[in-house]
Amino acid sequence: MRYNIVSKGDHKSNSIKENMETQMQNTEMIKDTETPEIVISVGGDGTLLEAFHKYSYRLAETAFVGVHTGHLGFYADWLPHESDKLIEEIIDGEYDVIKYPLIDITVNYNDEKNPSQHIALNEATMKTEDNTTLVADVSLRGKHFERFRGDGLCISTPSGSTAYNKALGGALIHPSLRAIQLTEIASINNRVFRTVGSPLVLPAHHYCLITPVDQRTIMTSIDHVTTKHHNVKSIEYKVAKEEIRFARFRPFPFWKRVHDSFISDGRDD
Ligand code: NAD
Repeated sequence: MRYNIVSKGDHKSNSIKENMETQMQNTEMIKDTETPEIVISVGGDGTLLEAFHKYSYRLAETAFVGVHTGHLGFYADWLPHESDKLIEEIIDGEYDVIKYPLIDITVNYNDEKNPSQHIALNEATMKTEDNTTLVADVSLRGKHFERFRGDGLCISTPSGSTAYNKALGGALIHPSLRAIQLTEIASINNRVFRTVGSPLVLPAHHYCLITPVDQRTIMTSIDHVTTKHHNVKSIEYKVAKEEIRFARFRPFPFWKRVHDSFISDGRDD
């Protein structure tokens, strides 16, 4: 099987990566940085986000698994001392594939420029370039829904619902649900300006179009990457056709990960 290991780059992650590569030598495993079938990220959730974007052009042929060298991650759920066991399991080649939904993002421009296409594993946010109020029309499935005024909007996947979305008061959504969630970032709500105020969960056959009213330059953040877009006409968000595939060697249910990350991991019970 072809594999690649993506490290966070710190000393601990690099040495785990080197040990894993040594263990793979003289086995059926072939290191392949271009077309790996399995990608092991060593670091944190941010490292897995990087690995995902590195191989986002071949998601149907790639499975991901994460080792965390810091605190428990949502995507990186193997401990450093379990890495030998993980490599044995990978060499055995027996694993289930769990698929999670992603967001498809299309940025449309006012000028001749072609729309740009993006994909997110956690979330995509939309803000102004200078932190001024974003004024934007939100339409759902082609129908005007509201005019938003505030810091920005966040559209997250179910597996990203435990990240930035959670800090914004969004719901935690089980990743078996093919949906996206639209959450407000500090909306202005008074007698004059009104938004729904609650996070909206959209099914896979709905899409959300956000059209800035005054601003043309928009900052988008897609997972860990922030980009400035000039002359933006609108941005469309929907559940992507592609999915991320995780290699699962043992059960680690989503709600247990939520419990262990946010309630208690048992160490201080
Ligand atoms: P990072 O790797 O330092 O990640 C920031 C924190 O988010 C880490 O603690 C990480 O474990 C956690 N995280 C990432 N994905 C998660 C997920 N799906 N569920 C639960 N926790 C998750 O920083 P980065 O590499 O820049 O990561 C970018 C991510 O950071 C973004 O996708 C966003 O979700 C998150 N973020 C969170 C906040 C917030 O909670 N207020 C603000 C900005 C960004």
